[in-house]
Amino acid sequence: MGVLSRTVTGMNATTSRLGTILSIWAHPDDETYLAAGIMAAARDAGRRVVCASASAGEHGTADPRSWPPERLGRVRRWEAAAAMAVLGVEEHHVLGLPDGALTDHDDAGLSWAGRLLDDLRPDTILTFGADGMTYHPDHNAVHRWVTRAWRDRGGRSRLLYATPTVEHLDRFRDLYEEWGMYMSDERPTGIPEEQLAVHVRLQGPELDRKLTALRAMATQTGDLVARIDPAIYAAQIAEEAFVDALRVPDHDEATTGTARTGTAAAV
Ligand SMILES: [Zn+2]
Repeated sequence: MGVLSRTVTGMNATTSRLGTILSIWAHPDDETYLAAGIMAAARDAGRRVVCASASAGEHGTADPRSWPPERLGRVRRWEAAAAMAVLGVEEHHVLGLPDGALTDHDDAGLSWAGRLLDDLRPDTILTFGADGMTYHPDHNAVHRWVTRAWRDRGGRSRLLYATPTVEHLDRFRDLYEEWGMYMSDERPTGIPEEQLAVHVRLQGPELDRKLTALRAMATQTGDLVARIDPAIYAAQIAEEAFVDALRVPDHDEATTGTARTGTAAAV
């Protein structure tokens, strides 16, 4: 399937074709960085969007003395609720697995993902690809759980992985190195724009809405927003890009060593 939309003017067409959406991530803020515009447009179009986070992100701070985990977890749940209010997402759930240790909870994570798929029966799933965008082990864990749960149910939803584009990385690669964004020596190569399933560039009110949602997550975005040029920040978060899982090589089985036959190959 080709690209559903390249510009915000096609957002309604894009989101109405996505149907009911399950947006499933590791930490509150992942969903807002990677899919705020798509979720907001889907809600505006009357679609059901369920957003789920495996953890409350209680260790997401460089200053744990000021932000002990219990306090930060409470605040991040509240920040996520505020961001979802901005986006119009009324169904947001935090599972509450330990931030930073999701890889130790594969059984709980897999059954969580499976439960959401069974209960919601989404048309479209939005989640991490194998690189987790940043190689954060928690992100990689959610990718594995969702991919496995989806495959175990016969791949009946459309599974879409967040990805940087080749063009996005050309523009922002140096900035991401400066930020120390990657939790690995590996680096993403990106997906060419023409291979994306969903690609939007937010502008005007839609971009402002995403920026407002991100600012609502001040424990996560405050330092960055204060530090960098607002125009660069806006340009960096304006793009949301997803590739169909059926188009990418299957890293899940390579990492878990449970190869099976009959899985979809890249097309
Ligand atoms: Zn995260």
